[in-house]
Amino acid sequence: MVYTELTLPVNALRDEIDGTVIIPGDGDYDAARMAWNLAVDQYPALILIAESAADVAAGVRYARSHDLGIAIQSTGHGVLLPANDCLLIMTSHLSAVSVDAASQTAWVEAGVLWGAVLEQAQAVGLAPLLGSSSGVGAVGYTLGGGMGWLARKYGLAVDSVLEFEVVTADGQIVCASETEHSDLFWALRGGAKGALGVVTGMRIRLYEVTTVYGGSLIYSLADAREVFAFYREWIQYLPEEWTTSISIMNFPPMPELPPFLSGQSVVMVNGCYVGDAHLGQMMVQALPDWKQPIANTFHPMPFIESDTISNDPMDPMPASVSGGWLTDLSDETVETLLAYATPDKVVKAEIRYAGGAIARVNDAANAYDHRSSTLLLEAVGMTPTPEAVTQFRQHIAAFKQALQPHMTGGVYMNFLDGPDAHDQTANAFSAKKYQRLGEIKAKYDPENRFRFGYRIPTSTEA
Ligand SMILES: Cc1cc2nc3c(=O)[nH]c(=O)nc-3n(C[C@H](O)[C@H](O)[C@H](O)COP(=O)(O)OP(=O)(O)OC[C@H]3O[C@@H](n4cnc5c(N)ncnc54)[C@H](O)[C@@H]3O)c2cc1C
Repeated sequence: MVYTELTLPVNALRDEIDGTVIIPGDGDYDAARMAWNLAVDQYPALILIAESAADVAAGVRYARSHDLGIAIQSTGHGVLLPANDCLLIMTSHLSAVSVDAASQTAWVEAGVLWGAVLEQAQAVGLAPLLGSSSGVGAVGYTLGGGMGWLARKYGLAVDSVLEFEVVTADGQIVCASETEHSDLFWALRGGAKGALGVVTGMRIRLYEVTTVYGGSLIYSLADAREVFAFYREWIQYLPEEWTTSISIMNFPPMPELPPFLSGQSVVMVNGCYVGDAHLGQMMVQALPDWKQPIANTFHPMPFIESDTISNDPMDPMPASVSGGWLTDLSDETVETLLAYATPDKVVKAEIRYAGGAIARVNDAANAYDHRSSTLLLEAVGMTPTPEAVTQFRQHIAAFKQALQPHMTGGVYMNFLDGPDAHDQTANAFSAKKYQRLGEIKAKYDPENRFRFGYRIPTSTEA
């Protein structure tokens, strides 16, 4: 059913909330339905821009009484199913952040970008476990795991959550923590993004990090095989203070890029060392000593500048992403990466080296899974049209088929998007964890009101 052609009675909802309700035909509908990822084209039946958890709860009750599904977005960086014919709850105005230096914690509302948390935390010598871009939503990133430049030292963002405030499918505002609604807390930590309720805020741990040694070594693609072989050995000896990745980058021609990158294909080794800059410098020096890179941007930097390690795009763009856990970086794996990470289809094929503190957390502690996997592939393509999305998905299917002997079969949900991600949810978990998620789904959202996030059948369906 296309609700966009229907008129839902929204006046009572408008009267009840402080936020804004936008329906098809309103002048601001097209602007409001836009996601950061411009490849997302969605037509919600109504959009609720919430100003408080109470607004969210009113929206959820409204969706129940009109039998609507509920999608949740803060920035639109990681949309799974587009929010068609449903209530889209936008959390972007829930923007409060408060850092408590004494307890080294922060309260972060659902619409907050990592940059705002980073700024307040760095002002008192602390850091959150953000990812490669401070423009990403803190809550959406955390619900998917959250693997950033401090991951091997301090773990995943999801392991540093102390509590969530959640609006559940019955329209109640509850606290989920180790002591309250502990099953919901278990599931939300990595297992149920967008599928169990609307997280309106979270309390997280912060860490004492001020200066790091970070940057990139950039090599010509012609050196790729040697650089990958070196990287494979090098990471075996790196302490957990180092979090690193290796990427094949196919830069489009762009005037804002330096000439040695614009329109060029290169191999980049990115990294961040949390500790004494001199020690970090000594440990990374092995690579340029072995082979002179085109550029070496490693330097001591305030952690607030950590965006400059990856230089991810900040402005909205049309992109698609896919990936999965690799078993190895053998020569055969590298050949397949080189054969499929071609400039016509893939902008970036990055392998992040995980492990460390991520793997030390007890597997049963929360829903996040595949902790012992260490090599994570993320492939990104530019997909400005629906045809380009289809071509990317087809190419990735062939890419993964060729890589299949070197993949564990597991996926990391933050590095998947679109319907593909929704469909692959089961591959992010062991059968046992997926079964438990189904049981928790049956308890908290038996009508599958939250059906635009992870795909979690109730235990009966499973
Ligand atoms: C440039 C870029 C860099 C990135 N870097 C990293 C990285 O270093 N490490 C990493 O792990 N990931 C990274 N990601 C992936 C990112 O963490 C996910 O895309 C994440 O889902 C984005 O969250 P968001 O709220 O900004 O996006 P949105 O698209 O607004 O939300 C994504 C999904 O999360 C769910 N959701 C959002 N808010 C809520 C809420 N309040 N309650 C319940 N469900 C909610 C919804 O299902 C929604 O569809 C990156 C993505 C991009 C585009």
